[in-house]
Amino acid sequence: MVTSVTLRFEELRSGGMLPSPHGVAQAVLEMTRRPDASIQNITPLVQMDPAMAGRMLRYANAAHGGSLRHIASLKQAVTFLGLFRVRQIALAFSLIDQYRAGTCPSFDYAGYWTTSLATGIAAQELAPLAHSPPDESFTCGLLSGIGRLAIAAVYPEQYAELLRLELTGNSMCNEELTRFGIDHATLSAEMLLGWGLPDIFANAVRHHEQPADIPFTPGSRAHTLTMSLYFAMRIGQLLNLDETQRWDQVPALYHSAAQLGIEEADVPPLVERVMVGWQGWAKELKLPTRTHPDLRALLSAPPISMSKPDMSALMILSLRVVLMVRDPGRLEALAKTLEAMGLQSESASDITSICRLLHENTPDVAIIDVGGFGDEAIEQLRMLRDEAGNSLHCIALIPTEAEGDAPRLMLAGASDYLLYNASEAALTARLSTAQQLLSLQGAVKAERELAVSTAGEWARTNRRLLHEALTDPLTQIPNRRYGMDRFAQEWSIASSSDLPMACLMLDIDHFKRVNDQRGHDVGDLVLRQVAEIVERSCRRGDIVFRYGGEEFCVISPSTGLREGLNLGERITGAVRSSHFGKPEDRFQITLSIGVAVRKVEMLGPDNLISMADGALYAAKDNGRDRVSAA
Ligand code: GH3
Ligand code: MG
Ligand code: MG
Repeated sequence: MVTSVTLRFEELRSGGMLPSPHGVAQAVLEMTRRPDASIQNITPLVQMDPAMAGRMLRYANAAHGGSLRHIASLKQAVTFLGLFRVRQIALAFSLIDQYRAGTCPSFDYAGYWTTSLATGIAAQELAPLAHSPPDESFTCGLLSGIGRLAIAAVYPEQYAELLRLELTGNSMCNEELTRFGIDHATLSAEMLLGWGLPDIFANAVRHHEQPADIPFTPGSRAHTLTMSLYFAMRIGQLLNLDETQRWDQVPALYHSAAQLGIEEADVPPLVERVMVGWQGWAKELKLPTRTHPDLRALLSAPPISMSKPDMSALMILSLRVVLMVRDPGRLEALAKTLEAMGLQSESASDITSICRLLHENTPDVAIIDVGGFGDEAIEQLRMLRDEAGNSLHCIALIPTEAEGDAPRLMLAGASDYLLYNASEAALTARLSTAQQLLSLQGAVKAERELAVSTAGEWARTNRRLLHEALTDPLTQIPNRRYGMDRFAQEWSIASSSDLPMACLMLDIDHFKRVNDQRGHDVGDLVLRQVAEIVERSCRRGDIVFRYGGEEFCVISPSTGLREGLNLGERITGAVRSSHFGKPEDRFQITLSIGVAVRKVEMLGPDNLISMADGALYAAKDNGRDRVSAA
């Protein structure tokens, strides 16, 4: 469909103003479009750019996960990655290098790239959820905001003016459309299409910023991919916010995880993996990162929000106070003052007894005289903080001359301090602060608990729906919808990297007789048993699915005809030597298989399936229980 927006894209592109890779990366992109492109002639090309070659090696080793030997040479790396991946990595890294600075005054170029990098790495982590190749997911995440960079390049001044309005979501897109004739989301998607990323990824980029308006069926691969890109974007943003802003993002992060069927407990380790990958790559690419010494605390502890104190919360009447004060006179005076305020207090002789009280009547506030501000005092405060966590507001009672050292006590775990000779007004003020903080903490904690428990339920429901949508209910192996989808992906990888690929069509021999002679139930049981044998006979990278009725299909990536035939023999052999049906009535059956391999002139997966189907008919004609090649 040609719309005014796509025309606008063509206009911008032909004007040569959109970001695009230069130099070796551009040559790699052009080379991989040619029909004679091969691993052999791309390696010397990459070699011409040492920085690119280094990154390619690093990427290959990371992708390869250390389970095999270390990849030491560029040639090995390129062979391992394949043309398709080399192309995407070259594209991604060269764009970062070329556009790390620009002329739009309000555009934060370094911030843009480092957030995009974190998004790319998160998208790569999430790739298995949408059954996507990790490299495409990485590129898609990294370049998901490229339209913004492009607008900044084409209209630096006008875009700066718009950015100063700080619009978000739809209103930003509408304003971009009015001012520039295209919005950043559409522009990103069009640019990715122009660089050869499959439609499904470009569409995910187009819609991921507005998760409420995704135009795909929930549970479909397109929907899951778009949602996972949204989630990746949230992780990227979270890692790039500062302390005070980060807390607010946590509940939304859990919500979007849940929509993808990710359990609450899996979120912190996921974010941590992304952070580690991000920091490594950012260093390599000389991009700034933030450090998050305590990411787990961020994602698990109830956040303390410092915003807007609620004046109605200046109610201190309900506070439970424990006093640890050495001087008997001072203790008595304090207890009296508290009593006059209507507060009950309790006395404790040392930190250990306060800790015991924590489990009995859970005090809210502890006022403790740690005997000064020496190492012993610091140690005691630390001990109490470790034991009590954030739920105890701990006020250190100190002599006037120690006031200069109050910050040290606060660092050690005190929430506040109070001078020995403080007035009643000062004490009331300190207790009001305690009350405010505790009630804010309580509110945030309750909100987060609600978010997380709803999130957990969503996670389970969504995972079930996703599983159901992609699984054959009878045999519990992948269904045709999932199988054909994966097949299309593997096809695109195989054809761009010129790798072989085999397709096996399997059909149970005389299956009608099983139904006729032993009943439909036994027929169903046999289908389950056959599915299990077929799955067991295949390798891990093979895709096995129920094609329909008593037919199954196996897609075997990187597999030539001879290996495909061997796999077929292994399956027919395993079926021939097994017994089927109920334990009390076992019988034998056989299976026929047709094998075909991908040929350059084939148009797509359907072509390969019909070749394999033709071979299957030949196997039946030649007497069944055998494997035939197309
Ligand atoms: P051939 O060796 O030529 O393949 O013979 P066949 O009997 O296996 O082939 P045909 O296509 O004539 O019959 C397939 C049968 O599979 C017919 C259908 O009832 C049965 N079938 C298909 N799906 C199911 C199922 O889910 N459960 C059961 N029990 N039977 C099924
Ligand atoms: Mg059949
Ligand atoms: Mg049959």
